Amino acid sequence: MIVAIDGPAGSGKGTITKIISQRMGLVNLDTGATYRCVALASIRKGLKIEEEQKIVDLIDELDISFEHENGEIKVFLNGEDVSKQIRSTEVNSIVSQISSIIPVRLKMVELQRRLADGKDVIMEGRDICTYVFPNADVKIYLDANEKERAQRRYKENQEKGIDCTYEEVLDNIRKRDENDKNKEIGALKVADGATIIDSTDMTIQEVADEIEKIIKMVK
Ligand code: C5P
Repeated sequence: MIVAIDGPAGSGKGTITKIISQRMGLVNLDTGATYRCVALASIRKGLKIEEEQKIVDLIDELDISFEHENGEIKVFLNGEDVSKQIRSTEVNSIVSQISSIIPVRLKMVELQRRLADGKDVIMEGRDICTYVFPNADVKIYLDANEKERAQRRYKENQEKGIDCTYEEVLDNIRKRDENDKNKEIGALKVADGATIIDSTDMTIQEVADEIEKIIKMVK
């Protein structure tokens, strides 16, 4: 079974997939984390965003994997737990551009499909319903208004000890949304057959219950 959830930054995809994966025993795959690992590795190598070929070549040196512990996903890059580092302001500021490089996307999509192979998964990202798994059993587009999404991400960063202001978060979300919606391949959009859920005025539990209900209808 493949449950695919797309939506803009801060729409709640990460929180919701964690809850649903625990409730329903699905493997939780965060596709954004794969692009974040490429961004982090590029920063560490001192590569500039214009050095596209070097970034693409760098991917061959990267081993990206996930481990699941009490519903939390840990992200490993060449054996190092980078779960926190991939959420830094520096990574946030280049990840959307990194993920716009077409060969980077093609390689990451291949990795994402491999990670899901043979498993019952709940997978979240931007192009899961439209491109990675267009035949997913359940397709959801999770949305919320921009200010609410920035507020949520700001609060989450504070809890995780990531240094930033609300204005920086809002600005980053706006830029990423704009870039993500205009990608040549894998642009963020509502897929055919996807259910749209606007979570602006909903609690996390309400969103999770609604999605669980949808999954149970096809199970
Ligand atoms: O979901 P998250 O905010 O961690 O994703 C980081 C970035 O990775 C997004 O802004 C987007 O540019 C990119 N991404 C993507 N396709 C996906 C998931 C994420 O292009 N399936």
